Amino acid sequence: MYNRRETKYPMPVQDPLVRNHNFKEVALGYDAETAVCEAERCLSCKNRPCVKGCPVSVAIPEFIAKIAEGDFEAAYRIISESSSLPAVCGRVCPQERQCEGNCIRGIKGEPVAIGRLERFAADMHYAGAGAIERPISNGHRVAVVGSGPAGLACAGDLAKMGYDVTVFEALHAAGGVLSYGIPEFRLPKEIVKREVENLIAMGVKLCTDSVIGRLYSVEELRTELGFEAVFLGTGAGLPRFLGIRGENLKGVFSANEYLTRANLMRAYEEDSETPIYHAKRVAVLGGGNVAMDAARTAKRLGAEVTIVYRRGMEELPARKEEILHAREEGVELRLLTNPVELLGDAEGNVCAVECVEMELGAPDESGRRRPVKKVGSEFRLEADCVILALGTSPNPLLQRTTAGLETKPHGEISADGDGKTSLEGVFAGGDAVTGSATVILAMGAGRRAARAIDAYISSAHR
Ligand code: FAD
Ligand code: SF4
Repeated sequence: MYNRRETKYPMPVQDPLVRNHNFKEVALGYDAETAVCEAERCLSCKNRPCVKGCPVSVAIPEFIAKIAEGDFEAAYRIISESSSLPAVCGRVCPQERQCEGNCIRGIKGEPVAIGRLERFAADMHYAGAGAIERPISNGHRVAVVGSGPAGLACAGDLAKMGYDVTVFEALHAAGGVLSYGIPEFRLPKEIVKREVENLIAMGVKLCTDSVIGRLYSVEELRTELGFEAVFLGTGAGLPRFLGIRGENLKGVFSANEYLTRANLMRAYEEDSETPIYHAKRVAVLGGGNVAMDAARTAKRLGAEVTIVYRRGMEELPARKEEILHAREEGVELRLLTNPVELLGDAEGNVCAVECVEMELGAPDESGRRRPVKKVGSEFRLEADCVILALGTSPNPLLQRTTAGLETKPHGEISADGDGKTSLEGVFAGGDAVTGSATVILAMGAGRRAARAIDAYISSAHR
């Protein structure tokens, strides 16, 4: 049955003025009836344009058809052939630029809500999931460094093939950005915990508080600990700064530090041992998902929040839905505004951001119109906390401690499409290779590397 409705079935959400005081998930998910109605909007297009927009080629029309038939478990099985983290990707993927951006239904109305349907299928599966089976061991050992989406996907696929996998994670909890970066109100940590517990149930060993490059070098993992291959999924967690005056003042944070305190250390809870800065006026510098997450977190901690971004609305890199949610929750946007200095009081606390207004000039090398300064437009934005969300790069530790590991000028590890690096038996993928990107790209890279590692170890034993 084909549903002619032109718009997506709305996602039930918490009321903005309630949710901006709590950390519970904003989007509440479709019920079965709504999911079936939404699935019936799909035209089952023969040339499958939506699949072409998906970085891991999920069989979208096929899984949606199963939801329309009411066979939700079959829908989940189809998605999991291509994606290891459907409950996560259904929540955080930029679908509007990927599958939904290519959907034929989007030409005359709104695209099919592919992400919401993916989340629905995954949530239904987990609600009724039984015990995980432990695969039969093939006796070969692989080390995975980093437990973000790239590492989790690589470890999961290798474990399913029978490999004895050990994941080394620098932090005290697994999940990478899914645990320490993306806030609870967008991605409940229970979902990440369940993915990690599933890996452990499959026999994957998890060593937290283990910084590779300090505890063991990559070479020692191979020579002393006897791992036949190593996957580096260490992400891009090193924050960038603007290099302007005042960045060392008290009350100035990188978004990574601010979000790690709030998410991983749950500093917003009353009994948390981790302190967090309770400010009255917060300025967040940047315009990506990280800036939105930091701003919405600060809002929930009781502050008035302003996002300062040097380009216009069209150029804001954050997902449209996140911008909408942030604005609904009362976050202010100060667009076409560039921070030039952070100002402090006599005690060294930040008290304002000196800004200048911008206007858009000719396109730059990225194709976006270059912002240029409006003469005489300087002004001060009062702020007792400033959060810098200006992008991140890979941490240089592995590069410095691993002889022969080739990297690019900004520190990303050089690897081919299968994740092979310049070192024999060492593979890499995710943000550590691409620089800051997306969950689905990291997950896809982890899965491709798992296949390449299997081929590498298998060929050595032929
Ligand atoms: P990471 O997730 O960074 O994981 C790397 C892991 O390696 C970390 O746990 C780190 O502690 C560990 N590690 C690092 N060095 C070592 C070492 N030497 N030894 C041991 N362990 C080490 N993407 C989306 O698709 N949608 C979104 O909505 C979205 N929102 C985001 C919001 C925020 C706040 C941030 C920061 C990112 C967001 N992203 C989003 C980007 C996305 O999360 C990343 O692209 C993705 O997590 C990269 O996965 P990864 O596995 O490569 O690295
Ligand atoms: Fe369905 Fe849209 Fe994909 Fe066509 S493009 S098969 S309508 S999801």
